[in-house]
Amino acid sequence: MRRRWFSLAAAALLAAITLVPAAPALAAPTFKVPFPCGQSWSGQTRSDHSPAYAIDFNRTDDLGDPVVASAPGTVDRVTDLGGTSYGKYVRIDHGGGYTTYYAHLNGFNVSVGQSVGYGKVIGWVGSTGGSTGPHLHYEQRLNGNDIQARFNGALALYWGTKTYTSDNNCSTTGSGTVNTAGGDLTVRSGPGTGYTAVGSIADGTRVTIYCQTSGTSVTGTYGTSSIWDRIGSGRYIADAYVYTGYDGYIPNVPRC
Ligand SMILES: [Zn+2]
Repeated sequence: MRRRWFSLAAAALLAAITLVPAAPALAAPTFKVPFPCGQSWSGQTRSDHSPAYAIDFNRTDDLGDPVVASAPGTVDRVTDLGGTSYGKYVRIDHGGGYTTYYAHLNGFNVSVGQSVGYGKVIGWVGSTGGSTGPHLHYEQRLNGNDIQARFNGALALYWGTKTYTSDNNCSTTGSGTVNTAGGDLTVRSGPGTGYTAVGSIADGTRVTIYCQTSGTSVTGTYGTSSIWDRIGSGRYIADAYVYTGYDGYIPNVPRC
């Protein structure tokens, strides 16, 4: 501060802000299915569940599968109740009175006070507490009361079993690094060697991949593949020369 009146003015402003009446209740967070992008899980609701609106999630061989935050927030409980009730559970505070619960976990991947975003792995599916087999017990609560769960604003099925496919933290683009072991890589107007060359990319260049599709088969640095990566409008490169970290298609990147 250069002059004293600045801080006086700031103090007056702060007082004015403090006196503004409380805002109306915040809109609910956009909750996502609490599993990684693309996974499908069977979610069961039943009226004799405790609490009634909780969802039990299962899929084949789910023991140890990652459980992710269904919305951004702050972890406010990481608790082990032993062989009763929730067993190992995590609670996330999403603000506005909204919380989510993730129970019967096998283990924890977060600690109290930690900020989490969509898709953050918070723990793993287990069968701790009062559970007879591996599953995720999941709840959404408002001001401490359990509420009927919503994913992307759509009400879950009450009552019954339904398959929910996660779009939690799905990315819309991928990335990779061109590796030709020397020369430039030809960019084509379409997904194949028969398409017109529209440019070239130097070895080692980092590229954004907007979508992937199947085209002519190419043998490159990473073996033989018919996958082509679209790196711009009318610009395709053979995935066999791109390090993406994945064999085959990159999860979450759309097909062209
Ligand atoms: Zn349950």
